[in-house]
Amino acid sequence: MELRKTSVRQAVEAVYNRELTAHKLIEQTLKNCSILNETMNIFTHIAGIDALEQAKAVDRKIENGAQLPLAGVPVAVKDDICYGVLPTSFGSAAFKEFISPYTATAVEKLMDAGAIVVGKTNLDDMSQGSTTLSSPFGPTLNPWLAERAAGSAGAAALATGVCMLSLESDNGGALRQGASDCGVIGLRPTAGRISNYGLNTFTSSFGQVGISAFSSENISCAFEIISGFDERDASTAVCRDRSTEKHAVADIEKIKIGYPVNAFDYLEPGLREVYEKTRDEYAARGFMFEEIDLTLLREALQAYYIISAAEASSNHARFDGIRFGKAGKATDLEELYCKTRGVTLGREARRRSVFGTFLLSKGNYDCYYRQALKVWNMVREEFAAAFGRYDIIVLPAVKSLPRPLDEEKEFIEDWADDLYCAPVSLAGLPSLCLPVGRVGQLPVGMQLIGPPFSDEFLVEICNRVFR
Ligand code: GLN
Repeated sequence: MELRKTSVRQAVEAVYNRELTAHKLIEQTLKNCSILNETMNIFTHIAGIDALEQAKAVDRKIENGAQLPLAGVPVAVKDDICYGVLPTSFGSAAFKEFISPYTATAVEKLMDAGAIVVGKTNLDDMSQGSTTLSSPFGPTLNPWLAERAAGSAGAAALATGVCMLSLESDNGGALRQGASDCGVIGLRPTAGRISNYGLNTFTSSFGQVGISAFSSENISCAFEIISGFDERDASTAVCRDRSTEKHAVADIEKIKIGYPVNAFDYLEPGLREVYEKTRDEYAARGFMFEEIDLTLLREALQAYYIISAAEASSNHARFDGIRFGKAGKATDLEELYCKTRGVTLGREARRRSVFGTFLLSKGNYDCYYRQALKVWNMVREEFAAAFGRYDIIVLPAVKSLPRPLDEEKEFIEDWADDLYCAPVSLAGLPSLCLPVGRVGQLPVGMQLIGPPFSDEFLVEICNRVFR
């Protein structure tokens, strides 16, 4: 079965019709994962006998009449999401072989529905990046051009056809930029629509579990299962998609799309043309695009880096090797810190820890952190006002094409790449990234952003309009 050409629904049907067993499907998928990993470096860990046992259990349940909406569906899980069977490295040298004592709610829900985790996917050091270049496991290669980075290894797993769904995380854009870089669809849901229980936190305020897939139909199948209130995550939302009431009956061609033209000035050559062509094509089909001014994108990016670094520095303070992570041998506390954090934190994680601690220190707190909180509020208000006038807003997902593996960039340029994604994280809005074109061989994705709780609506628009 070619996973890229098969929908989740078709795969499940095939398993129910006994055209193939879940066991056979997973056995073949695991082989493919191993072969591919040798060249692409997609997985930090590939499942083995456990996945095969789970697949057998799914086959048995089917024989006993169980209804499993994801029976036998191979899923990849980003390695900052806990899964008690395989290690959860968090992309850090400190946790390379760490096995979490519990499993994330979203993973549990997928498994309860019959899905099988085939592997944990590579990521930047402590999730701090959208390239995989800072991973202690080495970078993941882009499936479309091997000398470039994949952005997200889960998206690369989808693009290479070794899984059907990829459970991911997105703080300031990793899921969306990865989807753009690999030409797949990624949904960062409204904050709280999917439980973050079991997500290893880099930024407490912006981190969100999301889902990527090859089609919006597959996203929809998974989202229906993993979204919802979780008593283990107090920030999950109790309500369901509110926008469907407004939009379900609406003529989808009448949706009003806000198009922030000022934002396109920052794009690297080649990308602007892709986005403009997309707008023109859809405008010609009768969709209403109206230019809007999002004035705070740059400030939002700065606020994201201030708040996220501050949160990272306090979240990571516990990784001193005493209770979590690898401890170096030492005779006193300072030596212990040096031999653990000094060795296990990568360059970027160290930079953000130091930067965040600086921002939170007396004197700096008021002039940076508190200011950033004000900007955070203003960004939310700006988006809220825009959604008074538009049903959705489109924004680029990336400012530049996937990074060449051998290119040394100043860290600040990497940070600038989050210009279009970080503001959406600040506003807690749902954003669906879908492929809209290419520059050379490399795919380019665009974000469809909706008001809070319009997740299903975005998936539907993608399905009916943009596919
Ligand atoms: N590139 C962003 C950062 O480095 C987002 C990372 C993420 O979403 N995990 O902060």
